[in-house]
Amino acid sequence: MELRYDGRVVVVTGAGRGLGREYALQFASRGASVVVNDLGGDMKGSGKSASYADDVVNEIRRAGGTAVANYDSVTEGEKIIDTAIKNFGRVDVVINNAGILRDRKFENITDNDWDTIHRVHVFGSFKVSKAAWSFMKKQRYGRIIMVTSAAGVYGNFGQANYSAAKLAVVGLCNTLAIEGGSLNIHSNTICPFAASRLTAKLPSEVMGKFKVEDIPPLVVYLCHESCQENGGLFEVGGGWISKLRWQRTNGVVIPNASAKTAPESVQQNWDKITDWQDATNPASTSAFFRSLTRYIAEELGEE
Ligand code: NAD
Repeated sequence: MELRYDGRVVVVTGAGRGLGREYALQFASRGASVVVNDLGGDMKGSGKSASYADDVVNEIRRAGGTAVANYDSVTEGEKIIDTAIKNFGRVDVVINNAGILRDRKFENITDNDWDTIHRVHVFGSFKVSKAAWSFMKKQRYGRIIMVTSAAGVYGNFGQANYSAAKLAVVGLCNTLAIEGGSLNIHSNTICPFAASRLTAKLPSEVMGKFKVEDIPPLVVYLCHESCQENGGLFEVGGGWISKLRWQRTNGVVIPNASAKTAPESVQQNWDKITDWQDATNPASTSAFFRSLTRYIAEELGEE
């Protein structure tokens, strides 16, 4: 059965180019009414232009779909969601896709570089999602996508500002998934890789294998009403899709952790602390607390 979006309203931020454009086209082709948001600035976040969002809206309409443009920055999330409500009366899906880069070695990052990156990626994702939340709550239905990056998950040379911001949206997603679960508002994060202006500096022979068209299938599935996934983190690119999770070593309890000699005990136990044999995959804060108390109780012979 085709995954349809008839009657659903989808907001895609940064939908004038790259990955966002592909999401907008895909959702529209499956019956969704789409808000095509794009500020239309340069890669570093300066300037603006309505033409990118307009072009995508026209493309959708020419293909028989329904879309409206919005040119506000994601930092003004209410205005973007307002466009959805005024034109279509609801908002079902938010794709927090808009993004910029200000790559520099850590020692050269200015306060302005740091703030600008965080405002677009973190504050922007917060503002748009928060503005949509009350409507989704009333509807008892909503799907939110956060967009992270391998730079956020693993780090990348020259991207300290972007790495920090991109991992922040994973944290935001984790908690939205917890708060939204009982409201049927599901939030997931994707970690995409595809040829766009943000990856234009990478070798074209490699990037030729990673098309923006390869990313929407995962997003279209995750946002569908039939999908129960919530709080997941997925890597996606070139037709490959996988799920990521945390892993933890069995660990060691240092008796008398407040003693003067405790750092030396840490040193002596380092191989055990970092030994992945018998590793587990904690998936919640309560699992964290349960493990902490269990390990300590075992060590003290209380079990
Ligand atoms: P892109 O530059 O092609 O598109 C991003 C769009 O966002 C642009 O059209 C831009 O005008 C818009 N935008 C920027 N700031 C905005 C703002 N404040 N408000 C509204 N719109 C704004 O980039 P892309 O590669 O398609 O990236 C899309 C998202 O995917 C970004 O969040 C990026 O960090 C993330 N990402 C991309 C890759 C990749 O391989 N391309 C990898 C990891 C993460």
